[in-house]
Amino acid sequence: MIPAQYLGALSLEQRLGDPWLESNLLSWPSALALDEQDAFPEAAVTGLNALGLPQAYVPHGLGGQFRSSEAFVALGRTLARRNMSVAVAYSTMLWSTLGWLGGTDQQRRAIARWMMDNASFPCLAYSEADHGADLVSNRLTATLNEDGSYTLNGEKWPINRAIRSGFLVLLARTSEGNHMRNHSLFIISKDQLNSQRYYYLPRVKTHGLKGCDISGIGFRGCTIPSNCLIGQPGHGLELALKGFQVTRTFCAALSLGVGDTALRIASDYAARRVLYGKPIDQLPHNRDVLANAYLSQLAAECVTIVAARGLHVCPQLYAAWSSVTKVQVCRLVDHACTELSHVLGARFYMRDQQNVGIFQKFYRDGAIVSIFDGSTHVCLDSLTTLLDTLVRDTAQPEASQCLHALFDLEAPLADIDYSQLTLFSRHGDPLIGQLPHLLGKVQALEESDHLPAATLAELRHLCQAFVEQAQALAEQIRQTPRQAGQQEARRIGYAQRYCAVFGVAACLGVWLYNRNRFGPFFASGQWLLGLLERGLAADFGHGVLAPERVDALLAQLAHQRSANHMLSIFTWPLASAGSAEQLFPSIIKEDACDELNLS
Ligand SMILES: Cc1cc2nc3c(=O)[nH]c(=O)nc-3n(C[C@H](O)[C@H](O)[C@H](O)COP(=O)(O)OP(=O)(O)OC[C@H]3O[C@@H](n4cnc5c(N)ncnc54)[C@H](O)[C@@H]3O)c2cc1C
Repeated sequence: MIPAQYLGALSLEQRLGDPWLESNLLSWPSALALDEQDAFPEAAVTGLNALGLPQAYVPHGLGGQFRSSEAFVALGRTLARRNMSVAVAYSTMLWSTLGWLGGTDQQRRAIARWMMDNASFPCLAYSEADHGADLVSNRLTATLNEDGSYTLNGEKWPINRAIRSGFLVLLARTSEGNHMRNHSLFIISKDQLNSQRYYYLPRVKTHGLKGCDISGIGFRGCTIPSNCLIGQPGHGLELALKGFQVTRTFCAALSLGVGDTALRIASDYAARRVLYGKPIDQLPHNRDVLANAYLSQLAAECVTIVAARGLHVCPQLYAAWSSVTKVQVCRLVDHACTELSHVLGARFYMRDQQNVGIFQKFYRDGAIVSIFDGSTHVCLDSLTTLLDTLVRDTAQPEASQCLHALFDLEAPLADIDYSQLTLFSRHGDPLIGQLPHLLGKVQALEESDHLPAATLAELRHLCQAFVEQAQALAEQIRQTPRQAGQQEARRIGYAQRYCAVFGVAACLGVWLYNRNRFGPFFASGQWLLGLLERGLAADFGHGVLAPERVDALLAQLAHQRSANHMLSIFTWPLASAGSAEQLFPSIIKEDACDELNLS
């Protein structure tokens, strides 16, 4: 069974056809061929435009189809599992969020039209070569003129789609000094720019995402109209940070797509490669790696589900939850990919052998997720400033009510209220605060066909231990409050463990509230036991999973591979072998999009 919010992604998947069929634009052979040439995936992007995909990025109130973050993440994952270059090239559409967040009604409508009528892509022009993550020190200026227009001077680099974009989301310095009000945000259509006054910096040769347009843009006395300003003058950094709260959450879709293909390729290879008279997927170490990688993928999926739903339920927590999500999902998937690369042996180092080259591409491309949109360490650093509040006042009575909306995948969700995003949440973290409540639910479970007494007893025991570990961490944080203005490596460690606690809590919640919906493997809780066995370690070690957990995980992995399903807690059918894409429907565009049911 798969919840209704995933139907749009299922439909998109079928439209894209078999990823092994070379003639399909979003196939793995095509992704590799373009990668070898450092070529932009132009045809695939055009095909997705023809399907009406830009509508998925525009809120339904503005005529688009965006309603559910969970549905949106599922679409991103569907693209990312096929070709990260396409997914990342397309993902810049998401920067329109800054318009929804800070724009006037007129500005929002104009942006929605650019995207839906012209398939115009934005680029995000924040970074500067000399300042990196230190946005407050950036030097590109927007000088206010007497008539209300602004004049731009300076350069932004490196920027995804700087050259291949129709409009810019630009952060520009509007006052001197290094303080939170020294930048303003502008959204500018390139039509509004004097072509003599701006220029491009050449495409950068990158380690992964080789076809993507990673370039830059510069301005020399380039005037832009006053109506390009988004929000209040001086509020640019605040808007930028709030925008990251949304986009960091959605980055998880990219990691999930990478994790799926990496594990699929590695496990297919391990099943074919015979040594010592048997396939290498029977070697104990490889069994352990494959089982753990699958478990990491399921855990990353649960974190993503809770994070996507949470944007609708508790947006006021996203200064923290967006960073937690990005850190934890990246860590789970990236570590699994590194371990899987060893399963491939020497083939990992070869680009054209036995379908393994595609693994390398995903491994290279996937590494970007922990770098852009705020690196893992930037996210952890920002979490260190929030930890004291997160562990304070965690027992709010209203918190238990939000658990149902967060975890029950059939619970309806309200639209995201962007006005609730805030830089410094004053609230304790309900997910952590409600762990005793979740533990109580585990203690109250009764054994059943799918949940034998022995498993239930182990679950109760390990859940109890997990809650104690989480409470000990919270107490440690309370005992060593942050010293204002100081960055401490110790608190980065706390933040890392906090992300791990969040990850396990998300899995526990998703399991408890949906136990009997997703089939016997999900219901059995073996996977959850495995996660609890792994504890709060940053990465999975070997020999930690009990043998029966390894057996259960590998059996389900084998089942999903042979059934051609997404590697997921759901039953998520993929495009069938040999199926051709249907990217350019003969019906008119609107009909195609309705059929896609993107919302
Ligand atoms: C493929 C690609 C696409 C990109 N696309 C865009 C785009 O579209 N738009 C855009 O604006 N930018 C984009 N960037 C830039 C990207 O967002 C970078 O994260 C940003 O420029 C900082 O990178 P840097 O190398 O300058 O790192 P630096 O900021 O110099 O950081 C160096 C090191 O210090 C660490 N560090 C920095 N600050 C902190 C902190 N506060 N706490 C702890 N550790 C810290 C970092 O994690 C890193 O390890 C892109 C980059 C790449 C590679």
